[in-house]
Amino acid sequence: MTLHIDHDVCIMCSRCVEECPYGALTEEGERLRVNELCTLCGACVEVCPVNAIEVVEEPRDATEPADHSGVWVYGEVERGALHPVVFELLGIGADLAEARDGALEVVAAGSGLDALARELSGYPVEAVHLVEHPALVEYRDGAYAAALAHLVRRRRPEILLAGATARGRSLMPRLAVLCRTGLTADCTGLKIDPQTGHLLQTRPAFGGNVMATIVTRRHRPQMATVRARVMTPPPAGEGPPPRLHRWSVPEAAVADPTEVARRAPGQEERLNIAEADVLVAGGRGLGGPEGFDLLQELADALGGEVAASRAAVDAGWIPYSRQVGQTGRTVQPDLYVAVGISGAVQHRAGMQSSGTVVAVNSDPEAPIFQVADYGIMGDYRQVVPALISELRKGAGDE
Ligand SMILES: Cc1cc2nc3c(=O)[nH]c(=O)nc-3n(C[C@H](O)[C@H](O)[C@H](O)COP(=O)(O)OP(=O)(O)OC[C@H]3O[C@@H](n4cnc5c(N)ncnc54)[C@H](O)[C@@H]3O)c2cc1C
Repeated sequence: MTLHIDHDVCIMCSRCVEECPYGALTEEGERLRVNELCTLCGACVEVCPVNAIEVVEEPRDATEPADHSGVWVYGEVERGALHPVVFELLGIGADLAEARDGALEVVAAGSGLDALARELSGYPVEAVHLVEHPALVEYRDGAYAAALAHLVRRRRPEILLAGATARGRSLMPRLAVLCRTGLTADCTGLKIDPQTGHLLQTRPAFGGNVMATIVTRRHRPQMATVRARVMTPPPAGEGPPPRLHRWSVPEAAVADPTEVARRAPGQEERLNIAEADVLVAGGRGLGGPEGFDLLQELADALGGEVAASRAAVDAGWIPYSRQVGQTGRTVQPDLYVAVGISGAVQHRAGMQSSGTVVAVNSDPEAPIFQVADYGIMGDYRQVVPALISELRKGAGDE
């Protein structure tokens, strides 16, 4: 998109120059000029009495590679604190910034984000950019994407990373469209091509059978999302908080027709499975939802959480938030117990980086045994109670 001025129609009334919140319009001789500060907010379009200005579909120079530098990580805030995936992205973000000789910075939108920079003390982050506005108190895709796009256009980062969380998956595609650039979702590897300086964005494709490396050659920023627990967070050191830059956005830029009517508490208060150290996952082999009661007992005995295969989720035995795999969550617990799960490639794509894998299955040919460190062949209705009983004995409960 770009701002088009019809100089034959323009009467040089100066209203647009006065109205522009960014000083992006200037009068030079008999002509109106638009400079790089323009954010396409549309304020000038509305005020023009002769309709000489319009925002038109056309590639903007701002999306092209020149003049972009630095790596940004989107600072997603969850329940008042940075989401753990943000810290995971700081490690890879720092590597990329070093390879490109640029700065690693965090960008966040919302309101009341004062503590955010302090949370980043001791991490290799040079600056935090905050876009705060009353319209951003409640999370809404449109307003957040517009606010971040506004900042991306002004600061021109070369790379923008975000967690492939529910919010990241919803927000980043919108932001990419507003910035007219590409986005690679669910990356498992990110590095800089030493020849071209492009970001090599690697992600599994075709159910994890192929690793595809995607390059955004002509547009900036190069945007990628990464699932939780795929990257390792850098150790937190000692140090002051990064520099804080506060940015305002014009009302017009964050105007969003969506209204938050009410907030409904989440159905479950338990830990996100992507953050659990121990997972006990059940599949179609459980035979029904009641099988998960038994798995919950085992998870409790191990201090873990219950997860599931897609077949169990599709059957309505357990909510989608518990699904592990290609179309569910990627998990990396220290211990993953797969019960009544065959181990289809799409399931393995979400759990194959787990520490120790224990499989319980009645079929000795089940593929899950190929990725298991310990395999127990048998009916889970006998195996799982025996495991619970042994664990309780070990804990002195029986
Ligand atoms: C595009 C796409 C995306 C997908 N995404 C995902 C995803 O994110 N996650 C995912 O899990 N799947 C996903 N799938 C589905 C995947 O292909 C499999 O269909 C699914 O994982 C099978 O689930 P399951 O192992 O629970 O069931 P099944 O394959 O039916 O396996 C059940 C297992 O239970 C065993 N069993 C039966 N009875 C008992 C018993 N009494 N005791 C012990 N073991 C028993 C059987 O031997 C069998 O191995 C996807 C598929 C596609 C096409």
